[in-house]
Amino acid sequence: MSLASKFYVGGQWVDPIGRVTRPLINPATEAAYGEAAMGGAADIDRAVAAARSAFPTFSRTSRDQRIELLDRIVAAYARHEDELAQIIVQEVGAPIKIAKRLHVPLGRLHFEIARDTLAAFEFDAPHGAARVVLEPIGVCGLIIAWNWPLLLIGAKVAPAIAAGCTIVLKPSETAPMSSLKFAEIMHEAGVPPGVFNLVNGDGPSAGHALSSHPDVDMVSFTGSTRGGVAVAKAAADSVKRVHQELGGKSANIMLDDADFPKAVRAGVLSCYSNAGQTCAAPTRMLAPQDRLAEVEEIARATAEAMVVGDPADEATTLGPLINAAQYERVQGYLEKGLAEGARLVTGGPGRPPGLNCGYYCRPTVFSEVTPEMTIAREEIFGPALCIIPYRDEAHAIEIANATAYGLAAYVQSKDLTRANAVAEQLRAGSVHINGAALDLALPFGGYRQSGNGREHGRWGLEEYLETKAILGARG
Ligand code: NDP
Repeated sequence: MSLASKFYVGGQWVDPIGRVTRPLINPATEAAYGEAAMGGAADIDRAVAAARSAFPTFSRTSRDQRIELLDRIVAAYARHEDELAQIIVQEVGAPIKIAKRLHVPLGRLHFEIARDTLAAFEFDAPHGAARVVLEPIGVCGLIIAWNWPLLLIGAKVAPAIAAGCTIVLKPSETAPMSSLKFAEIMHEAGVPPGVFNLVNGDGPSAGHALSSHPDVDMVSFTGSTRGGVAVAKAAADSVKRVHQELGGKSANIMLDDADFPKAVRAGVLSCYSNAGQTCAAPTRMLAPQDRLAEVEEIARATAEAMVVGDPADEATTLGPLINAAQYERVQGYLEKGLAEGARLVTGGPGRPPGLNCGYYCRPTVFSEVTPEMTIAREEIFGPALCIIPYRDEAHAIEIANATAYGLAAYVQSKDLTRANAVAEQLRAGSVHINGAALDLALPFGGYRQSGNGREHGRWGLEEYLETKAILGARG
């Protein structure tokens, strides 16, 4: 059986109701490696009905039963990690080393954290003569992007299960295979029928049907701000809860006392992680005006040392972009950067030398970027760094906050008191000081047009709960 021709509904692999399919293209070769069924509103109806009928029983399972279930999911996931890594290389084009070190284990880590969060979580608290009880919100529609599929599955499915919710997952049409494999893992782990359902399909059909469905109590979305707005509008008529994790244009402030060789290099590598297709990537590097040449030189050397090529090769550090549309979009931004007067330090439009096939981009550094330029304001979602000069600390903070987004920010300084003072003034959901790594136990989400709500850890679990006051409960 080819998984790609089926959906997972009510604990079974079922045939799609319609006959629409979509070719699956390997971004490194541009060759088709199969095709996936694309569902529509009728498929979503069937999956929501399965999730709705599983909810009364699953929502009343005990904490211990759900801990045991999360343990079984972790164990089943761990048995398939090699295969998951190969799928990520094929469908996302992530270098195998990154797939093994980040994509796959971070997906599992969400389930481990959800388990530990659940073990310690207070669902029922006295308040005077009353009780305040937190209960699973209901059927959850989970819509994810293609850039970090397993990480995004974990960020949403793990807390939903921990809360006692039932699920319909709609992955990106561009990266369905990792989700199909994950559904197999859920089946192997013995997740009760109807608790987890999967329908593939595109945003305007399956995604819209899920967001607008009257029997879905919450929709959690990760993707572009445009997609997040569409989901919120579709969800409005049924007054469901909407969680959005959207785009970013995160600033990385090099304060003048930072360790430049280390911090600039790390900033470039972080910007290029996953070929620049990461919502929280530090894509705007803010450099002191009088140290611009030094910053440019480190950035150039780091970009030129990237090993661009076949993601299946262990030596590769930069793979292709996800698809032809993304390649064209990124090329457009590179052209626009030049047209608007940014200075090219390295890279630029076109493919890297010797790579004539595959959606590969040249690792690019622009300097003398101004906050008004398109490349400083919009998410490029490719391996392109914008260096923006600043006059003094106050100017750096002003530039960092001059964005419609507010997902993450980064501060580099040898003086922690100074770095903390700057961090407090940045309008972003997370601030990383001196390269502190992502911690999946801490809240993650955005200010402004980067979203609403928080994922990860305790904050992620709380998103999937309703709050009930039981008055007079204690006499
Ligand atoms: P989208 O936001 O369109 O896709 C994300 C998810 O939303 C996919 O599952 C998609 O389905 C779904 N979707 C799209 N439209 C709707 C809708 N109207 N209703 C419900 N669901 C919908 O991202 P793209 O793939 O189009 O990428 C475009 C740009 O978005 C990128 O260049 C990047 O700048 C940004 N982006 C940002 C991400 C982030 O993490 N910040 C992640 C992904 C993209 P499907 O793809 O199957 O049609």
